[in-house]
Amino acid sequence: MSISQLARSICESPTLKLNETAALLREKGEPVIHLGGGEPKSRAPIDAIVNCTGVLNTGEVRYAPADGIPALKKAIIRYTEENYNKLAGVKNVIASNGAKQAIMVALYALLEPKDEVIYPAPYWVSYPEMVKLAGGVPVPITPEDGTFHPRVEEIAAAVGPYTKAIIINSPNNPSGVMYSEDFIAGMVQFCEKKNLYLIMDDTYNRLVFDGKNPTNCCKYTRTDLNNSKLIVVNCVSKMYAMTGFRVGWAVGSEEVIGAMINIQSQQTSGPSVPAQWAAVGALNGVQSSIQSLRMTLENNRNVMLERLRAFDGVKVTKPDGTFYTFPDFSAYMKDSQKLSDFLLEKVRVVTVPGKDFGMEGRLRISFCGTIKEITEGIERIKWALDPNSPNELYLGDRKLVRDWQ
Ligand code: PMP
Repeated sequence: MSISQLARSICESPTLKLNETAALLREKGEPVIHLGGGEPKSRAPIDAIVNCTGVLNTGEVRYAPADGIPALKKAIIRYTEENYNKLAGVKNVIASNGAKQAIMVALYALLEPKDEVIYPAPYWVSYPEMVKLAGGVPVPITPEDGTFHPRVEEIAAAVGPYTKAIIINSPNNPSGVMYSEDFIAGMVQFCEKKNLYLIMDDTYNRLVFDGKNPTNCCKYTRTDLNNSKLIVVNCVSKMYAMTGFRVGWAVGSEEVIGAMINIQSQQTSGPSVPAQWAAVGALNGVQSSIQSLRMTLENNRNVMLERLRAFDGVKVTKPDGTFYTFPDFSAYMKDSQKLSDFLLEKVRVVTVPGKDFGMEGRLRISFCGTIKEITEGIERIKWALDPNSPNELYLGDRKLVRDWQ
């Protein structure tokens, strides 16, 4: 007996695997700098913690509706009104175990076997595997002009008889690039015209810099929510630094959301109740933590950019949001897996290979850690790669000797 063909076709999440590798090395006392992470290091908002512990203190934590507790759905409806200027009803909303599950159940709800799902590259590592899990065919589209910004025409050219949905993630993991208003407007209108589902992965929507405003995709739809093929996905994970709580949601037509709820009810039920109450606290509570996280990340981005730009041979695009950069290291090593392995082995810096995001020669380097981690991490990378580096580097009292070219 062997495992299924489907299971054999699915790769482990490279980012979660790297978290494990980093944790194991740290346990052994290795001086690891983790620049491969995908979570802010700030604390969850106090309103989230108060709400969550309040439920735990009752000692009564029970089954709840599969689509989310009413208080969370209410908070999501308010969030949608405030940030998307869209009136959603309770049947337009599902709360899931993170944005990850919201996207996964949306794909299960939409795809027939062999249906295609298009998304621009670079893309979040999970999209291809999620599409495959739901029986579909992933179709990544790489912008021809060498930028991280796709054009509507490029996406349109990839649409064929099997295309069922398009996923757009802006600001984008891993490039940090925020797609233009024109592009988002164009995609919403194109999908409406072609009757295609458009999954807007707005996970990083609120984490944008330089005084930019988050894009509101709902502004460009010409239909009401129940006739719309737009599915807007969000989560508390990044904007409130609540990755471990596992709460995300989707807003869409009653038909699609209803199908997603049925699937989720058979799969996991809703997110754990204390986590949902934490999300209610975060969404309804004082909102200053988002602004302070955004400011911290913007400052981190500036430091990261400054360090990378001082690095001959590395090309970097300025991220408009998120906490990722996606620099081009191909002048040093073209194979991003080998480069990432090399940096971990030689200087104990964790980065994520670009190939996992659909682009070779690059590394995803996060700036969600401390300034010290960013500066020291980049310094170590530079030391390892720059042939003009001094022969020795000290990590604490450990001496590293450069015995490679
Ligand atoms: N979408 C994107 C683009 C992401 O980067 C992530 C998390 N890394 C998710 C969705 C999933 O978020 P969550 O942790 O809420 O499941």
